[in-house]
Amino acid sequence: MSISLLPLPYAETALEPAISATTLQTHHGKHHKAYVDKTNAAIEGGELAGKNLEDIVAAAEAKGDATGDWGLFNNAAQVWNHGFYWHSLSPEAQSPQGELAAAIDASFGSFDALKTELATQGTAHFASGWVWLVAKDGKVAVEQTHDAATFNSLGATPLLVIDLWEHAYYIDYKNLRPDYLKQVIDDHLNWAFAGENLSRGAVWAYPA
Ligand code: MN
Repeated sequence: MSISLLPLPYAETALEPAISATTLQTHHGKHHKAYVDKTNAAIEGGELAGKNLEDIVAAAEAKGDATGDWGLFNNAAQVWNHGFYWHSLSPEAQSPQGELAAAIDASFGSFDALKTELATQGTAHFASGWVWLVAKDGKVAVEQTHDAATFNSLGATPLLVIDLWEHAYYIDYKNLRPDYLKQVIDDHLNWAFAGENLSRGAVWAYPA
């Protein structure tokens, strides 16, 4: 069994105009698919064939640490990150509820303060990477990772992620990453998914 390209959990037009169908066709249908295809090519016939994606990412990270060869990690980690990103987006505007809303208020003071922090860190992040909302040590926090790095490097439970790679916004916003972040943060984050990730007690698993 190989790693699959997780279907988008909404129509390609569902996030317009914040994220165009053209961007999703390219980002999901080309970029994400390429990470899936390269991962499958790398594991075919080897000891990682048939493993779940989380195990492949962990093994690839250990290989990178040991040998300096990050080729499989970069592709497998990007498969996971993109699956988590598609679920972090919502066609409809939402707001945090229940346990998550209380944790945000306790950690940031208000939901607006959290949104500002996501935009600030997402804008400040240099080059390619991801800005995350995570749960850590009983609080929620905003963290960044570079390139393909996953939440694993943060020692925290991921709740939401926003893709900061240029391919996520260049078609729609050119160089204006802050405008992309504002549209996504204001109207298209899946706070229900974040709440599920906080209460589940285990990290979201990439569908087999
Ligand atoms: Mn991407």
